[in-house]
Amino acid sequence: MIDVHVHVVPPNLPGVGSLSGTLRLRPDAVANALKQDMKAAGIKQAFAMGEWNCGDEDPLGVRRTLQIAELVPGLQAIGVCDPKRGDDPEHFRCVEEELKRGRVVALKCYLGYLHFEPAHPNYRRYYELAARYKLPVVFHTGDTYSPEAKLKYAHPLGVDEVAVDHPHARFVLAHVGNPWMLDAAEVVYKNLNVWADLSGLVVGDSIEPGSGDDHDAVNDVATRLRAAFRYAERPNRFLFGTDWPLIPIPVYREFVRNVIPEKYHDQVFGDNARLLFRAAAGGV
Ligand SMILES: [Zn+2]
Repeated sequence: MIDVHVHVVPPNLPGVGSLSGTLRLRPDAVANALKQDMKAAGIKQAFAMGEWNCGDEDPLGVRRTLQIAELVPGLQAIGVCDPKRGDDPEHFRCVEEELKRGRVVALKCYLGYLHFEPAHPNYRRYYELAARYKLPVVFHTGDTYSPEAKLKYAHPLGVDEVAVDHPHARFVLAHVGNPWMLDAAEVVYKNLNVWADLSGLVVGDSIEPGSGDDHDAVNDVATRLRAAFRYAERPNRFLFGTDWPLIPIPVYREFVRNVIPEKYHDQVFGDNARLLFRAAAGGV
């Protein structure tokens, strides 16, 4: 099984704190916590988001993630795009050097947190590089953790435009665009080069069975996800991800298992990710 969306360092975005107390721990403690959760959930590979705005020495913000990855077998890094530097040729020279090293399995664009829509010209070069190096581009879509974010940039519909304009690039809608899951499902349905990851739809230490407002909220999300998954008619393009450490991986695995029909579990929990992240998984 593969978890395509975890964090081992804070994302360093405007208005966002450390996300979780776990990410304030020392690197070896973060590594141990993740290893434990991966083992408990039967996860063999996980892909972790880097951090934004780390300077020319670390143009995709993966240095600290790669250090932790050395301590966690199966952990690989996702580089973070910086649209504020999207008109700087020197930046892209550094980015391409990093991609050539082959240590990055995807690129991430923090829509909403950074006030650039997917079709902004400053993202274009990233999509071209992603296509050339056969790396997917993951977009944060949907609700954010920052009062400084602007939601209009984070709506999944914005990705339709770049999916059409960059047919050789492959795109992932993180969080199925929650709460705009049906919109995200339409973008997945209509474009052959768009996937969705299931991460971050529920957070917390546990998902308590029983009744009450929390339980109703989890049921609401499950109902909307089930409908979106069915609507998209693309079981081959949904990816298991958690947003760890915002929720324990075993807890989230059970949530997804209960929502996604069993006949699609092999695809959603691993096969789809192996096909999409070929550079990371060594092909299928
Ligand atoms: Zn995340």
